[in-house]
Order: sequence, then structure tokens, then C-alpha cells
Amino acid sequence: MICYFDYNATAPLCVSAQKAMCDVMDIVGNPSSVHSFGRNIRKEVEKARKTIASILGVESTRIIFTSGATEANNLALKHFPGQVFVSAIEHDCVYNVREDAKIIPVTENGIVCLIKLKELLEEHKDKGPLLISVMAANNETGVIQPLAEVVALAKEYGAYVHSDIVQAVGRIEFPWHTLDMASISAHKIGGPTGVGCLVVSPNLPIKPLFVGGGQERFHRPGTENTMGIVGMAAALKESVIQDWRNTERLRDLLEDSISSFCSDVCIAKTSPRLPNTTMLWMSGVKSETQIMSFDLAGFSVSAGSACSSGKIRPSRVLQSMGLSLEKSQQTIRVSLGADVTLEAVQAFSQVWQAIYKKCLEKESNYELRSA
Ligand code: PLP
Repeated sequence: MICYFDYNATAPLCVSAQKAMCDVMDIVGNPSSVHSFGRNIRKEVEKARKTIASILGVESTRIIFTSGATEANNLALKHFPGQVFVSAIEHDCVYNVREDAKIIPVTENGIVCLIKLKELLEEHKDKGPLLISVMAANNETGVIQPLAEVVALAKEYGAYVHSDIVQAVGRIEFPWHTLDMASISAHKIGGPTGVGCLVVSPNLPIKPLFVGGGQERFHRPGTENTMGIVGMAAALKESVIQDWRNTERLRDLLEDSISSFCSDVCIAKTSPRLPNTTMLWMSGVKSETQIMSFDLAGFSVSAGSACSSGKIRPSRVLQSMGLSLEKSQQTIRVSLGADVTLEAVQAFSQVWQAIYKKCLEKESNYELRSA
């Protein structure tokens, strides 16, 4: 059995995105050209923009296409003319953008601490423009953040709110239009890699990251990735009608099955979470060993802390929740698709137990030999 359980890293390209991309592949032209070829391809870009905007409940002029969420997050935060607050569990492409950012801590359940946020807001009162960046759901733990409360607090203090909604859009419902800025990545929702967008309120000052042409209303120079944009719109359309209830049921079943064998395995189990995500702790077994063992058994999973270089480093997210370094280096993230089956989660649970037993046996043999 080969099972891809790493949807939070990248979801497989969905059929509608594939078809939409193939359809525009044959259309010649640069969307900025004024001749008929240019106008033809421009129509496709604008159609996609309208689709995305209407799904998110915003004006289409609020969408700025980018090369992905990394760029969208940088665009939102980098040149914001004022103080920035970011949560402790943000992806690096938010967390590391501003050296002067103040960090909003999270609780041991992985939820952004609203009391601390209020304290920070009080401290910053009357000190100029402020942008709060809190993700909608965490990519490692799947924990859903109290965005509505963050928005309400921000309003009270006249601050803007940006949210990295990469893992949440298409998986949970939220009035996305209530955010001042939001970042999306196509490849997390069944679209192609290398494309995303930033949704921005008209009253927010946005300074481009690059120098170049006047595309995207002067916010993002460079010829638009037409195929990617069209694929993203189709994927978003498909993802928002996806029913995740069965995935959630199977994720819970998987957790129950492993927990009945070994207690205290699931991280942040009691928090509101994405329906497809679970983070599992295997005591005494390094994440790398687990990932390789699962791979050999046909399951693709990841350490939540796997970085872009492919290396695994201690998870800042888990440590900010108060997990020890050791424990955070013994966890893996399992992120399921909407088409996951009962057989697949049952097989995974058996493999988890087999890896655990084998590693414990190895360890006790080693202890016996070295005694
Ligand atoms: N934000 C979150 C929460 C993510 O999970 C990721 C991808 O891992 C990104 C941002 C980066 O997205 P992209 O690959 O589109 O740059």
C-alpha cells in the first residue's frame, strides 16, 4: 500500500486545476500586451481573479498574484510602515520577515494567547500603525487559531490584521473578507506549485518587493504566471466544496487506534484542529527514523519541522507550546487527503505500532549489550 499522507506539504494537483491549466496552455500571449492575443490571455487572468475574489467574498481588485505564499507573506509584512506583531507559531516566511517584530506567545495547546495579545496592544497604544499577523491554522499541529477574536481585538485598537490562510482555506469556513490581508498558496489546495496571492484591503499601503513593470496594479512586477493563476482558481473552487467530515472521522479513528496502544501520543488533540492533520509523538524515536521507516512501509509523512532544504530541525512551533527539545524531535506530522480510506488509516496505525515496538526492542537490546 502506497499512501501519501503529506497534504500540508503539497496536495496532489486536482483534476479541475489540471484541465484548466491544459486549456490555457495553448493560448499565446502576454497579459500585458494590448493586441488581441494579449487581451485574450488577460481575460483568463481576470476570470481567475474574479473566481478567487468571489469565493473569498472580496472585490477582485484586492487580489495580487504572487509566486506563492512565501512571497505573499513577505509582501504583506516587509514594508509595512509601523510595528508588526507575529505569533510564535508562524511559518518562517512570516516569522522571519521583520527583525523588529514582537512575538505573540501561544498556549500549551498551540493557540495564540489573546491575553498576551491584548497586553501587547495596550503597550503599543497610540504609538503608530500596527499590523498583527496570525495564521488561520498551523501547518504542523493543524490547530485553528481564534482569528475572529484577533480581528475584534485589532479593531478595538485600530490595528490591521494579516493572516496566512494557506492551510485553512478550503478546509474550514471563515469570513475571510473580514481580514485586512490574507495569503494563499495554490499547491496546498490542489493547485500547482509556484503560485499564490495576497488579498489586500484597498486602504492598506503595499510597497512592491521587486523593481520592474507595472503588473498587478504596480504591486507586483513581472509577467503573471497565467497557467498557475488559472490552476489556482480552479483548485480553490474545487477545494471549497470538498467535504472533510470523513477525513476528520478517519483522523480521529487513527488517533484512537494509536492511543489505545500507547497513551499521550497526540499533540494538541483537545484544540480545534484542521480535519486532516494530526501530530504524533513516538517516545524515544527520532522523527528522521520514523519518517524513513514509514517511507519504507509505503507511507509518506513528515516532521512538522522539515525545512525547505530537506533537513529536519527542532520545531519552533512545538517548543513554543512548551514541548521539550527531545519530545519535539520525536514527532511526525500526518496530513491526510479528502480521499483517505479506512484501510489506509488502519494500516498506518499498525505500521506505527510496529515501528515503535521495533525501536524499543533495539534500544533494550543495546542497553543489555552495553550493561
Ligand atoms: N505558510 C504556511 C502555513 C505553509 O504551510 C507554507 C508552506 O509550507 C507556506 C506559507 C509557504 O507557501 P509557498 O510554498 O507557497 O511559498
